[in-house]
Amino acid sequence: MLDYPGKIAAIAWAGGCNFRCPWCYNRDLVLNPEVLPVVREDEILAHLESRRKWLDGLVITGGEPTIHAKLPDFLKKVKELGFSTKLDTNCSTPGVLEELLKKRLVDYVAADIKAPLIDGGYQKAAGLKNGTDVLSAVEKSIELILNSGDVDYEFRTTAVPTVLGKEDFLLIARKLKGAKRYYIQQFNPAKSLLDESYLNVAPYSSGELEEIRRSVSGYFETCKVRG
Ligand code: SF4
Repeated sequence: MLDYPGKIAAIAWAGGCNFRCPWCYNRDLVLNPEVLPVVREDEILAHLESRRKWLDGLVITGGEPTIHAKLPDFLKKVKELGFSTKLDTNCSTPGVLEELLKKRLVDYVAADIKAPLIDGGYQKAAGLKNGTDVLSAVEKSIELILNSGDVDYEFRTTAVPTVLGKEDFLLIARKLKGAKRYYIQQFNPAKSLLDESYLNVAPYSSGELEEIRRSVSGYFETCKVRG
């Protein structure tokens, strides 16, 4: 009831990711997906079918779902069953995103923006090597989402104090100016973080998050703190 705004949805986690955000709390899913139980596509479709009375849709999250070549075919099958689909993505694969949007295989996109789009800074926030070409992909994904017509969407950023200063949110907001929804997500130090040193990072207080929200809310139709 939380993951797909306005809908009751099942959630499927796709293993593996092309980012290594140090504060990511899905360590096994990102680094060792093979140790986790696999749920086959036909099992997911049967699960949806059997709960048709209660479920409106399916959220596909990760990891990064768009690195899997079968994603468009899978989402097509979910849509053919009559369910709405929500995709969580790190915006690194605009080619896949464009296909999903064009073919209307997603009804809602939740797009992570890790940091201001500045060379060096973005790679650091995403745990990538310096020089990795990621900015153009994120930029293109933002453009696609902002122009996605009647496909619904949100942008969101996890507020990790050692990664993002308060002024960084202004830079992000300027890039996303005019977007429908922007969520500032609380950072939750958990034992399963990719980089355990982040366990020692104290999250922003709720007052600080509210201050950040106020500073950027004018750029969006809706801007909220989450978590
Ligand atoms: S938080 Fe980063 S590393 Fe974790 S799944 Fe999302 S993009 Fe991948």
